[in-house]
Amino acid sequence: TPVIGVLALQGDVREHLAALAAAGAPARPVRRPGELEEVDALVIPGGESTTMVKLAGLFGLLEPLRARVRAGMPAYGSCAGMIMLADKILDGRAGQETVGGIDMIVRRNAFGRQNESFEAAVDVAGIEGGPVEGVFIRAPWVESTGAAVEVLAAHDGHTVAVRQGNLLATSFHPELTGDHRVHALFAEMARGAAAAHR
Ligand code: GLN
Repeated sequence: TPVIGVLALQGDVREHLAALAAAGAPARPVRRPGELEEVDALVIPGGESTTMVKLAGLFGLLEPLRARVRAGMPAYGSCAGMIMLADKILDGRAGQETVGGIDMIVRRNAFGRQNESFEAAVDVAGIEGGPVEGVFIRAPWVESTGAAVEVLAAHDGHTVAVRQGNLLATSFHPELTGDHRVHALFAEMARGAAAAHR
């Protein structure tokens, strides 16, 4: 079974660790480059992308993260994590960098103008058993996607979940709910990638 890590620089790390454990995929925190080398897949949590990317730089993780994503490591980002996985962002802090990997443009705080925070039922392609409970907190949306990106879900006409190969991202926070189906989907992606490498 693949070892899954949760990027533990900032954000709701514990909630992702708990959600992965509940989905049958126990995970460990990743703070240093050596810890990143030991995992097969990585969750990038919700939180504050400006702080997260700054800490990733300070901890010497930004380039290693880019290299792992480029090399095909499965990664899942929720909210700030979605911003981190975007090739391009709008309304970022001046010069705000990302890890990138998903060919999409993500607008930060896009839903925040109307509503700081809300919940909505979201149908996610590939997830059976009814809509996922979407918790949106100053959430981004996906403004546009490249041809390789599969749109998995929309809310109010805006893309809120995407997949590109081994990379998954949601505007919302399944780790803050008791519904672990998104984490189970990611664990399945991580298992599939590990099996393909064997
Ligand atoms: N608005 C935050 C950011 O830009 C994301 C919010 C969240 O992760 N809940 O990073």
